[in-house]
Amino acid sequence: MTYEQVKDQLLQSPKVWLITGVAGFIGSNLLETLLRLNQQVVGLDNFATGYQKNLDEVQSLVTPEQWQNFHFIEGDIRDFDTCTKACTEVDYVLHQAALGSVPRSINDPITTNSVNISGFLNMLTAARDANVKSFTYAASSSTYGDHPALPKVEENIGKPLSPYAVTKYVNELYADVFARTYGFRVIGLRYFNVFGPRQDPNGAYAAVIPKWTAAMIAGDDVFINGDGETSRDFCFIDNTVQANILAATTQDDDAKNQVYNVAVGDRTTLNNLFDAIKIALNENGMPYNKEPVYRDFRAGDVRHSQADISKIFTLLGYQPMYRIAQGISIAMPWYCHNKKMEI
Ligand code: NAD
Repeated sequence: MTYEQVKDQLLQSPKVWLITGVAGFIGSNLLETLLRLNQQVVGLDNFATGYQKNLDEVQSLVTPEQWQNFHFIEGDIRDFDTCTKACTEVDYVLHQAALGSVPRSINDPITTNSVNISGFLNMLTAARDANVKSFTYAASSSTYGDHPALPKVEENIGKPLSPYAVTKYVNELYADVFARTYGFRVIGLRYFNVFGPRQDPNGAYAAVIPKWTAAMIAGDDVFINGDGETSRDFCFIDNTVQANILAATTQDDDAKNQVYNVAVGDRTTLNNLFDAIKIALNENGMPYNKEPVYRDFRAGDVRHSQADISKIFTLLGYQPMYRIAQGISIAMPWYCHNKKMEI
């Protein structure tokens, strides 16, 4: 089925979804799309890196009737009883809650481990006990580690380069074992540098696009780690939402119990990204005239990243609708508006 057909079917026959990490960037975008499709959504978050303002924004974007379909649980995935409560009578789980960021995991591997591995195992077990229809989880391109091949193909991974990457790889191992041992329907989505509205621009662990955009709007220096030729496969959030909905609802047995790349298949250097954000800001009436400041490479960072997306295209029918330039031009007004609100 195509994405449009899946959405039509959901509109006709609404389901109950659980989104963990619902107050975060990806979680709140999943929430927005599912509520617009008149789905029932349970959301779980402890606000570790997510925000009430993300939920408030979603509320402002959907109808009051759609918002009535949302039930929020403030809680921690490290608490098994909370996970059990959240999974009650749920059809599909979209597990997004985790502590992201490679540098955070290098600074504090113990907390990253407990949330991303123990919390993950709690959710996996609670969802299995609740007999949900499927469990789709946020894996990561960091699992490719030091494997040099490009583009990245799901079967060929290297050694992890950070504690964060270890946790995301362990998630995949647990998911596979749960599929084999309990016949549980699990799908992992290896996200490649997702970006879009509601991605946090603040703090030491902010992702590159919101961080640079906020710095440029404020007229601050933009720092590039390394020579700027480091490359990434930047993926606009709507593509990631599509992948989650297709993965959760697939009826194809061959498509289940798999791990998929979620990206566009493009490769953009940091130097090119800098130029693209500058152009978009200019178009939004916020010109930035400084040159970037180059500094040392950052520990744990992969040099190049680009996905082969043929597996997810073939097995799930995923077709990314937005390339990086389109995504940036959609996201930029949101960043400009939010930065102005802060000032
Ligand atoms: P985010 O920080 O905006 O969202 C994560 C959410 O999880 C936050 O709302 C946070 O409060 C919540 N959370 C953290 N610890 C929790 C806990 N113990 N209990 C309950 N909730 C908790 O990050 P995001 O970018 O939306 O990432 C979502 C998922 O996607 C994460 O698993 C992340 O590792 C993964 N991922 C993201 C990217 C990306 O480019 N954004 C790339 C690869 C993988």
